[in-house]
Order: sequence, then structure tokens, then C-alpha cells
Amino acid sequence: MAAKPVPVKKKAPEAKEQVATPPVNPRGVALKENDIQQRKVLSTAWRARAEYGWDAGIAISRYLAELKNGRLVARKCNVCRRVMVPPRMFCEWCFRPTDEWVVLENTGRVNTYSICYVAWDATRIETPQIPAVIEIDGASPGMGILHLLGETKPDDVHIGMRVEAVWRPAAERQGAITDILYFKPLGRKA
Ligand SMILES: [Zn+2]
Repeated sequence: MAAKPVPVKKKAPEAKEQVATPPVNPRGVALKENDIQQRKVLSTAWRARAEYGWDAGIAISRYLAELKNGRLVARKCNVCRRVMVPPRMFCEWCFRPTDEWVVLENTGRVNTYSICYVAWDATRIETPQIPAVIEIDGASPGMGILHLLGETKPDDVHIGMRVEAVWRPAAERQGAITDILYFKPLGRKA
């Protein structure tokens, strides 16, 4: 009946003892190759056969397939009325699915560009590449794709420049953005 104060007094010192216990060092130890060779740790030799499929999604899959057909396609949202390229199945403005496919023109205008004298591996290149964002005719303003400009000199390139796609021969197309070789100034004969 008067047992209450007793357990309370007992518990308090126990708790203090727990706090005073030295903590276990939780840090790991770096493994050296020797540790594995000397079998200080469990190890196994194994060649991974990681086979996997990759899906570009509905919109980009159709976009790539149409490139093989020599067409640039976009998706239209009937609420904000934007025509979006590269296409997407969901309108991030209206927060709803997009409504229909639209075939775009083969032409466009340079939105922005860069004159690049360095290759992907940081080596210097003599003839510069001219990557550009090209707004495709038939898509909404500001809707562009990144590609290369060709058949033009760096000094002749300007923002707003009219360009057209130069397609790879149909038999060589793979359903990739490289099915377009580059964009050249509009109306220029190859
Ligand atoms: Zn929309």
C-alpha cells in the first residue's frame, strides 16, 4: 500500500547508470583490398547480368517514332491552348491530361544558341558546333527543341533566324532526335 515511493527511487539511479555507460562506437571501418583477398570479410565474385527495358513514355515514344517518319509532332492542351514540343501527356499549367496530337512544320526560328569550340570530352574543335534551341513552327511561342545548326557560319547566326530541318535519309532513321541531322538556314539549297 505504501509501495509507490520505492520503485520511483529505484528507477531514478538505473536511468543515471544507463546514461553513464560508454557509447558503442557506431562508425564503420574502411575495407582494404587485402581484407578481401585474405578473406577477412565475406566476399563473392559475381558477374551481374543486369538486363532491363527502358520506356520513353507515351508522348516521347510517339515523338521518336514520328521522327523516323520524318515528322515533328506535339501535344495540344485544349484549355490553355498551348501546343507543346517535345510532346507531353500532361499539361503542367492546367494540371490535366493534354488532348490531341498536332503535326508541326519542318521549320522554326532560333530562340537561343551557343558557339561551341569544345567537344564533349573537353578537346578543342576547329570547326565549332552551334547548338541551338529552335522554336518549331506550329508549336506555341517558346516551345523549342535543342538541336544543332549547320550549313551556316557562326557570324551569320542570330536569334530569330529562320531555319529548317535537314533529315537523315529515311532508310537510315532510327527513331531518335539524330534523325534530324541539323537545322539549316531556311530556303538554302543543299
Ligand atoms: Zn493546359
